[in-house]
Formats: sequence, C-alpha cells, structure tokens
Amino acid sequence: MNIYENDQDHLPKITESELSDEQVLEELQAIRKELGDKLVVLGHHYQQDDIVSFADHTGDSLQLAREAAKLDSEYIVFCGVHFMAETADMLSKPNQKVILPDMNAGCTMADMANRVEIDRAWKNIQASTDEKIIPITYINCSALLKDFVGANDGAICTSSNAKKVIQWALDNGERLLFFPDQHLGRNTCFDLGIPLEDMIVYNPNLKHGGVTPEQIKNAKVILWYGYCSVHQGFTTAQVEQIKKDDPDTTVIVHPECSFEVVQAADMDGSTSFIINTVKNAPAGSKWAVGTEINLVNRLAQMFPDKKITSLSPYQCLCATMYRVRPRWLLESFRSIKRGEPINVISVDEDVKKNSLKALERMLKIS
Ligand code: SF4
Repeated sequence: MNIYENDQDHLPKITESELSDEQVLEELQAIRKELGDKLVVLGHHYQQDDIVSFADHTGDSLQLAREAAKLDSEYIVFCGVHFMAETADMLSKPNQKVILPDMNAGCTMADMANRVEIDRAWKNIQASTDEKIIPITYINCSALLKDFVGANDGAICTSSNAKKVIQWALDNGERLLFFPDQHLGRNTCFDLGIPLEDMIVYNPNLKHGGVTPEQIKNAKVILWYGYCSVHQGFTTAQVEQIKKDDPDTTVIVHPECSFEVVQAADMDGSTSFIINTVKNAPAGSKWAVGTEINLVNRLAQMFPDKKITSLSPYQCLCATMYRVRPRWLLESFRSIKRGEPINVISVDEDVKKNSLKALERMLKIS
C-alpha cells in the first residue's frame, strides 16, 4: 500500500559549502517571518536545540498530537520522526499539509513491528484462545498498525496515558496484545497489578513467536518483543553507581527503560512527567535522568539551580531524531515558499479511517 504521496527526499540537500550553519539559521529566520501564519513548526523534546528554537510548540507525542489537531495553518512542519508526522497528518484538516524535514527520520522501535508480522501474530494468537483480546499499540508505530488496532476494537497509547488506555483495554477484554514496546507494556501492566508471570513476549523472528499455544492461552498480556535502543541502553549498574556516588540524587527514568531499571529508579514516567517533576523540584535538588540526551541537556540549561545529569555516562542520543538538521528544515521552508512543498506526509485515506478511530479513542480515554 502506498502511504506517501509526495516523497521527494531525492532532491539535492543544501551543503556546507553552499551555506554556513549561521547562514542557514539566518535564512530560516527570514523565511519564517515571511511565511507568518501560513506555517506552524512542531518540535519534539528530543530534537536538537537549534531546531527547538524554531518550534512554535514543543512537546511529547501526546502533546504534539493534541496540538496538531487544533492547528489552522496551511503547513505543519513536524520536527520529529516519521510516525509522529503521520499522526499529525491523520489529525490535521484536509487543506493542511504535514511536512517532515528529513524522510529518513524514522524510529527504530516503530520499525520492529510491521503489518505483515502483526497480522500473522494475530492469527496465531487467536487460534490459541477463544477469549477476547484487545490490541493496543504504542503511538510509536506506522499508520498501518494504527489501522490494525482501529479495525480490531483496540486503541493507541502514549507513555503519558498508557495506564489509562491499558486499564480501559483490561476492562473491555480478557487479554491484551501490546506492541511494539515490550518495556512500556510490561512496566505499565506491572504498575496496574499484573504479575510478571502473566506476561509473555512474542518475538516475530521466532517460529510461532517463540511461544507455545499453551503459553498464549495462559497469558494475560502478550508483549511484542520491540524496544527503544536509546532507553534500553540504561542499566541497573548505572543506577547503583549514581546512588553510591551520591545517595541524595533522585533517579528518574522513562518507562521505555527495562523493567529492572524502572524498578531500581526512584521515579518513572513519560517525557512530560519527567519535565514537570524536575521543573517543580526544589532548588538544589539533584537528578539523574534516564532519557534522551538532548532533553536532559536542555533540562540542565533550563534549571541551572538544580543539578541535572544523564543517568548514563554515554551519550544516549536518538540518532533518528537527530537527523532533522537546520539545513533540512531550511529546505522544507524554501519549498513552502516556492509553493512546491517537499517531504509531504500523507496517509492513505483507507488507512486513516480506522487509525483515526483508534486515535480518537485514545484522546477520549486520556
Ligand atoms: S527515542 Fe527511541 S522510541 Fe523515541 S524516536 Fe528515538 S528510537 Fe524511537
């Protein structure tokens, strides 16, 4: 199925020899001013600082999805990754165009589940039990998977509303299939009182998902094997080291981290939860944050009265978010100015229908 109408990623990029970084920023500002209300820029928290400085609205997936649904501008430039721009397109009005500055800005977690695998797994799982299974997808997935959950009475969730959405699913069915992030699924279900032994991991790379029909029959929750390579990089050894070095430091992590890391940390929650918790903490408090490095560095700059460091000594950077560079943003701006927008994300109408059903369900529940 062709999801994209206007993928012009093959157009030549603006090189360093054509324009310096400073010139890129200057031209971005000039075009931004010229285009005025015609254009709104949305920026995810994990974007680099120069990109965030051009964002009219920053936020996590849920906040940006809500924002996209309210906008009236002709163009929405989405500085984030592919699935986010797709979501914005689904929620935008028919006369609006959503643009992703770099078509290669994907999400490795979203790529860990595709529609063929999910259809196959669904068939396999349903053949093992007669009980009602509700499919829930994390918003970090392609439109085709959102379509799948919409078509099968499921819903979408983000890390901000995962508890509410999963509780809704448990109230409406006997079992749950959660994809693509096993960690968010496991951490949230555990918080809701489901013991680990009632959850299994379905790995599409293994025959029959690596589980027996008996295991499927007995599981309350079937977790897809996917994960975020950025958040899975945090370890319990890092938490122990921080606590050993300074027991007064509070460790706060994202629920895409492993179960062991979340259990070892003092607090866990979505990107917005992390930001608000650190923001509202008293001056002088100390934080080790287990999430993407651009956000951690920005928090440290925003709240210099607190000591904010990354939980990891390594740079936990989301390489795909980092693909959106100011010069690619400039190409998007220039194309809008020419009236020939490039990298327009346009989800197929058939896919949109069921996806929207699942998205609207999420927005209603959260
Ligand atoms: S941080 Fe992880 S989940 Fe988020 S966009 Fe990057 S790879 Fe995907």
